[in-house]
Amino acid sequence: IQSTMQHGALTISSLVEYSRRIFPEARIRTWTGEGFRDVSFSDIGDTGAKIANALAKLGIERGDRVATFMWNNNEHQAIYAGVPSMGAVLHTLNLRLSPEQAVFIINHADDKVIFVDATVAPMLSQYLPGTPNVQHVIVVNGPVDAIDAPEGITVHQFDELIADEATTYAWPEIDENDAAVMCYTSGTTGDPKGVVYSHRSIYLHSLIVTTTMGMRLSSTDTMLAIVPMFHVMSWGLPYAAMMAGATLIMPDRFLQPEPLLTMMAEGRPTLAAAVPTIWQGVSALLDAKPQDITHLREVVVGGAAVPPAMIKKFDGYGVRITHAWGMTETSPLGSVARPPMGVADEEAEFAYRVTQGRFPSPVAARIIGDDGQEQPWDGEAVGELEVSGPWITGSYYQPDGNVTDESKFHDGWLRTGDVATVTPDGFMTIVDRAKDMIKTGGEWISSVELENIIASNPAVVEATVVGVPDKKWDERPFVLAVVRSDDDADIDAHKKYLEDQVPRWQIPERWSFVTEVPKTSVGKFDKKRVRKHYAEGDYT
Ligand code: ADP
Repeated sequence: IQSTMQHGALTISSLVEYSRRIFPEARIRTWTGEGFRDVSFSDIGDTGAKIANALAKLGIERGDRVATFMWNNNEHQAIYAGVPSMGAVLHTLNLRLSPEQAVFIINHADDKVIFVDATVAPMLSQYLPGTPNVQHVIVVNGPVDAIDAPEGITVHQFDELIADEATTYAWPEIDENDAAVMCYTSGTTGDPKGVVYSHRSIYLHSLIVTTTMGMRLSSTDTMLAIVPMFHVMSWGLPYAAMMAGATLIMPDRFLQPEPLLTMMAEGRPTLAAAVPTIWQGVSALLDAKPQDITHLREVVVGGAAVPPAMIKKFDGYGVRITHAWGMTETSPLGSVARPPMGVADEEAEFAYRVTQGRFPSPVAARIIGDDGQEQPWDGEAVGELEVSGPWITGSYYQPDGNVTDESKFHDGWLRTGDVATVTPDGFMTIVDRAKDMIKTGGEWISSVELENIIASNPAVVEATVVGVPDKKWDERPFVLAVVRSDDDADIDAHKKYLEDQVPRWQIPERWSFVTEVPKTSVGKFDKKRVRKHYAEGDYT
């Protein structure tokens, strides 16, 4: 028989109107460098409607792409609210791409309008001569002359553009499966690829972020959203906060450890989210200048493997790190490591916490071995992780029809390119990215495992490992590390430290010490550049 239930479309506009009515007290707190600029969720709804009215007057129609080139701030949040609600598609541009990649992505997505923070306007100005389809640029938090635009592009000032617009908009009825937001992968593994989220996928993903299988985000939380709004929608936080009524602290351009710790002292967030490299920097400063951060009940860390030593370090500060895994293609929440009930002791609990965790319903997962066969969940068998579900992409965006190439999709499942094991109780461990595994003398080394052990040495600030060509063994591990002091740049001491912890044949001979490991546009170790560093260097 048929159910008697109503349909109730899951759309961004319903989320925006909900947050405006139910949680008018929740705030978006943007850091200005000196203090917070606070706006309420009702202000966000008002500004979102004003933005939609202004864009409609500029000729923006349903399905048109409206891009942002912005930091995390309240204006960006209002754009997140208004653009998809009016039926246009929000495209969040990564601020740290190379000029070639940025121009490629703007043209590929066919962006018509770009909102830009004045502080990064000079960068966008460089791209605009190469993006003929852009019609309008809207400067936020600064004057129009921050932008140098070629003929054919009209430049507007954000506040002036929306000043006289109405604070309501007759949001159109939207099919929940329509495009809402698009985001390109950061291109660590080749050309950036476009992923398009639907209203429905974002809505369902927001729900999970509010649960224990996500970030447990609630109306009693203040979340420090460090992960950029151009990096998988700040892991879904802007929309999840609307659903949960959580207050968000937005760091704007102040992403260095010092201002982050100042905003923590002043805003006292209960939650925070960022990639490991950010926490590594925060931790170094905390050690030099201790500060109580126990107002944080939890810190969600993912985007790259969290070294177990980092989890221990934060335990020492009285703050719990929760490890999560995901990718642009998975909206991003794919798994989260919350230990099961009844774990014997802290050590057993720790063993769960260092994994990438369990998959939330309704994300389905399987691991596929080299032989193409599905592998058992026994904690031992290794295979490529494949996932499927309502917030997992089923194709990549192409203007003339989305594509499902076999290197990335397998019978409707997303091939993640991550190699993993899963325990019988569903805890997944990423062994490595398939392309980062190191094959030496016919045996595999997990670069991530080696990195974790090297980084557990107190002499090491950060370290990454890549496979480099070797005449005898095909490949050998090469370590690029930052150490605490010059005295710690002692290869023999590092090798000795590894002796009891990894098999002899895995101990790297080639090391290089630098002041910083190169990072990608989203703050992960940039292994492409590390390989190049090796190729151009002189190592014995
Ligand atoms: P890109 O693929 O361009 O680097 P993403 O941010 O989408 O951009 O990266 C997703 C990838 O990051 C995953 O496929 C995985 O390799 C890695 N990753 C994410 N979270 C974790 C984690 N907790 N542990 C290990 N690797 C992770």
